[in-house]
Amino acid sequence: MNYLMRTSRSFSLLANTYLHKMMKKKNMKYILVTGGVISGIGKGVIASSIGRILKSNGYEVTSIKIDPYINIDAGTFSPYEHGEVFVLDDGGEVDLDLGNYERFMDIKLHRDNNITTGKIYLDVINKERRGDFLGKTVQVVPHITDAIQEWVEKVAHQPVSCELQPEICIIELGGTIGDIEGMPFVEAFRQFQFKVKKENFCCVHVSLVPQPKATGEHKTKPTQASVRELRGLGLSPDLIVCRSEDAVNENVKQKISNFCHVPPEQVICLHDVRSVYHVPIFLEQQGLVGFFLDRLQLPIRQPSSSEESIKLSAEWRNLAEKFDHLVREVKIALVGKYTSLEDAYASVSKALQHATLHCNLKLDLQFIAAADLEREMQTNNPIRYHEAWQKLCKADGVLVPGGFGSNGIEGKIAAIEWARKNKKPFLGICLGFQLAVVEFARNVLGWEDAHTIEITQDKAKKNVVIEMEEHHTGIMGGTMRLGKKATMFKTQDSILWKLYDKKQFIEERHRHRYEVNKAFVPEMERAGMKFVAEDESGERLEILEVEDHPYFVGVQFHPEYISRPLKPSPPYLGLILASSGRL
Ligand code: GLN
Repeated sequence: MNYLMRTSRSFSLLANTYLHKMMKKKNMKYILVTGGVISGIGKGVIASSIGRILKSNGYEVTSIKIDPYINIDAGTFSPYEHGEVFVLDDGGEVDLDLGNYERFMDIKLHRDNNITTGKIYLDVINKERRGDFLGKTVQVVPHITDAIQEWVEKVAHQPVSCELQPEICIIELGGTIGDIEGMPFVEAFRQFQFKVKKENFCCVHVSLVPQPKATGEHKTKPTQASVRELRGLGLSPDLIVCRSEDAVNENVKQKISNFCHVPPEQVICLHDVRSVYHVPIFLEQQGLVGFFLDRLQLPIRQPSSSEESIKLSAEWRNLAEKFDHLVREVKIALVGKYTSLEDAYASVSKALQHATLHCNLKLDLQFIAAADLEREMQTNNPIRYHEAWQKLCKADGVLVPGGFGSNGIEGKIAAIEWARKNKKPFLGICLGFQLAVVEFARNVLGWEDAHTIEITQDKAKKNVVIEMEEHHTGIMGGTMRLGKKATMFKTQDSILWKLYDKKQFIEERHRHRYEVNKAFVPEMERAGMKFVAEDESGERLEILEVEDHPYFVGVQFHPEYISRPLKPSPPYLGLILASSGRL
């Protein structure tokens, strides 16, 4: 009987899968998320939370992020200005919002899921040069707007988890309605809603409801104005999500509904919540799934899928609950270059967060500007110098993340030396891995002038980190060693091998131009720095561990990119376990 049930269930699953594959090409549902009033009010988190709850209810969901800037991609951005550059499996260097989508929805996106004005124009200009427009004048409407629509339709169908074709695509339009750069995109979607038909397209507008201190009242005018602007451009919001600091009362909601011409149940007021993990839960409680089911005429999912969804939501709920009730803290010092902007280390912070949550601990993340730890700072600004060292010394664990250029290099090396000598758990990521090698060469092997060629720029120097020739083409955009690459463990005598579930072979994302010089490895290994894993060709060193230390680990890759709230990244988990004395 049991067997029969199992077989029929797997048959229905198979049939379901087959049906998905057959149906989806025709029936993609699009949810466009636009922003009003100001940016930075959590549009990305709301869009990914919508994705999360739809996925939890059994739908295959994908997402597209539109950044209306002219850059082709985020690869050449300064983290000071835009926050971190997020890297995808295929090596795409994209906006950090794509990281939110991947983490919330547990999907793997492609570079084309990030659209920029630069990419669209390049595409159209290339076509023009090829003669595809047959002598016509190439214009924003229809050529750019057509290219946008074609791009969206093509990318929406690409699988982002297992082999199933997505059936719902969440599109986030960066910036706010009314921005000059966003206009061609708004116009493209105005046309698109008719092309794909009403039941396949809806629009969610995320707006701000401020509460000026003078009166303490919630003000709806900015939202009214931005909805008016949106309508003026030909898009009507199906849902208005109002962001506010405190909860908004029923009158205010009613007012927004009246003035914006949207039924009250389609006005969602989302005030600041304790953590981002609460956002999907809150939106689900507001009945959003039912709304989309109805508005987009979504098929009711089979029991097999909804069983899974119940499990997923329960896990997610536990996570949010757990986050609110953590007591014991673990203090991690992040020694970096871009510490003035926390977004510059968004994925690193999230990966630390996932690992601490997994260990039932509360993360106390201390950002330390590496330059503050340097000797010159002692004379230039002794207070800053001492404060930075105090912060470092109080930490339970130290992390040196990825980075570029010379700023703070010696400070990072000093922090690594301190962690190694004081047996403090240490994790070095990419540049942090390379500098751990420099530190070891200088202070253990006594090679005083050991360095990385990234700084010396001189092949005659003792460079323990060298260039990867093929990644020095003279062109900056998209030429690093990028994306998902395999790493093979060479030994089982390794902490990371155990943390990676004793897998011999792992895959992580990369982003670097320099590598550890293999010529010095035998001497380093004899002195206690073990290179326990390398790439498939055996050419590139990927993981180091130092003997007689509770946790001294460096990785050439960036494990933070694929860390998930419910699946923490092993190197980060190791750091937290060691920092709390549990490894
Ligand atoms: N700057 C180093 C390199 O290019 C490290 C890069 C990084 O940390 N992402 O190899």
